[in-house]
Amino acid sequence: MQKPYSPRLQPAIVQLLGEPIAQIARTKIVATIGPACREESDLRGLVEAGVDVFRLNMAHGSVSEHQESLDRIRRVSNALARPVGVLVDLAGPKIRLGELPNGAVECRMGGEIRFIRGTQTDRPEEFVTSYSALIDELSVGDSVMLVDGTVSLVVEERTADWARCRVVQPGLVRSRQGVNLPGVKLSAAAMSQADWQHAEWAASAGADFVSLSFVRSAVEVKLLKELLRTRGSLARVVAKIEKREALDNLEDIVEAADVVMVARGDLGVEIDVASMPMVQKRIIRVCQRYQKPVIVATQMLDSMQHSRRPTRAETTDVANAILDGADACMLSGETAIGKHPRLVVEMMRRIASATEEQYVEDRTAYVNNQLSQGRTPSTHSVQDFLPAPDFLVEGLHPITQAVVDGASRIAADLNAKLFVVASRSGVTAIARSKRRGAVPTIGISDNPATLQQMTLYWGVTPLAAVASTDINGLLEQVTAWGLREGKLARGDRILLVAGIGFGTGGHNMALVHEV
Ligand code: PGA
Ligand code: MN
Repeated sequence: MQKPYSPRLQPAIVQLLGEPIAQIARTKIVATIGPACREESDLRGLVEAGVDVFRLNMAHGSVSEHQESLDRIRRVSNALARPVGVLVDLAGPKIRLGELPNGAVECRMGGEIRFIRGTQTDRPEEFVTSYSALIDELSVGDSVMLVDGTVSLVVEERTADWARCRVVQPGLVRSRQGVNLPGVKLSAAAMSQADWQHAEWAASAGADFVSLSFVRSAVEVKLLKELLRTRGSLARVVAKIEKREALDNLEDIVEAADVVMVARGDLGVEIDVASMPMVQKRIIRVCQRYQKPVIVATQMLDSMQHSRRPTRAETTDVANAILDGADACMLSGETAIGKHPRLVVEMMRRIASATEEQYVEDRTAYVNNQLSQGRTPSTHSVQDFLPAPDFLVEGLHPITQAVVDGASRIAADLNAKLFVVASRSGVTAIARSKRRGAVPTIGISDNPATLQQMTLYWGVTPLAAVASTDINGLLEQVTAWGLREGKLARGDRILLVAGIGFGTGGHNMALVHEV
């Protein structure tokens, strides 16, 4: 049950007061940190260019390196007076090749490769992997995909000691590259010992989000949540959908998770890459029904790892993900190891802005057209980018949901300039975010952790609450901020959703204020 909103001053946010906050961004950008952007000045540049959340990929680098990156992010965030989210990404049961002789092996069409036990081999036709049970769990006829699916093998014979495969798609394979086994049910635990250690570190380091790779069932998501909660962490758990089994259990996984990622890198190998576009839409639709923020990931602006300009297909991919209902788009190699990390963030921000602007314009034109023909369009058609959700998210009181829905309608009807949500846990901000309203939303909170989580929510700009004990104080702060930032002018209307009084448990008030 949520408590009514009653702001109190916390030392960590005092330093944020009076400083300008970033521009209003609707679609959020997640950027992966890597050698190409690890310096504090790089990170600052990326935040200025539009990054909302940084991903620390635990599959690479050491914990001390990640701690250093996290410290830098927090310093940049403080210096810019702008909340920035941190997502710690656990590798999960990803299988990797071991060391290959001379670091690489050419798999020739029709050639034979044997997977053997152990961790070492000198023979180029023998592969070892990080997964000790691999030989036991492969069957004749299974596909083994290497190098992101570009090299593929089929298992032809298996003994107690090896699995012999035929190369059906040739190519060069390098040490430690990923191995995908589409459709094979693995007995591997959801989290390895390293994953547990990384999760514990994430909890103690104050991560805002922790993601689990290769999720197969809701139980695995709950396990990670449990681990984080017992370590005192309120980090939101992200389920990465990148296996067929996850698609089979999609509804349960989405319900159990706080956030979902369409992890297209591995998903596009584990299932037929041709069906991935429609699967992306399906995952996003389920997230909309359960009110879960969803990130679309991998290869969004891939060619910009080397090029200063994206392909037309890539810009279209970003726009379509937003129209599908993605809350955030993610950059991986583009920022981690690419040549133009800042350019790529700027490009993603520009595509998002152009898409959102045109979308709002089209909806408005549609409504005006209906009006001119003497029809009365429902306010839903103005206000909603996407269908209304079917389920209350965990911690969302039915009163809050109803008040947010009603206020969203009022905001659209009155052409309000800002929609303000006072939120302690952030769940009210999620409810508003999932309505996809065109009116920009301010998520105001006195809890720095909540502000950092709001960085991922579509259309929500986090704003640190000044110490104030009442609604008037909140309104004053938001008005002052809006006037200073050029988001408000005299006569503009603001919608405020908050909780007053006792006993309802939810946010029970919607207020219209004229500046
Ligand atoms: P990864 O996850 O980059 O950690 O593999 C994302 C994906 O698979 O798309
Ligand atoms: Mn992956």
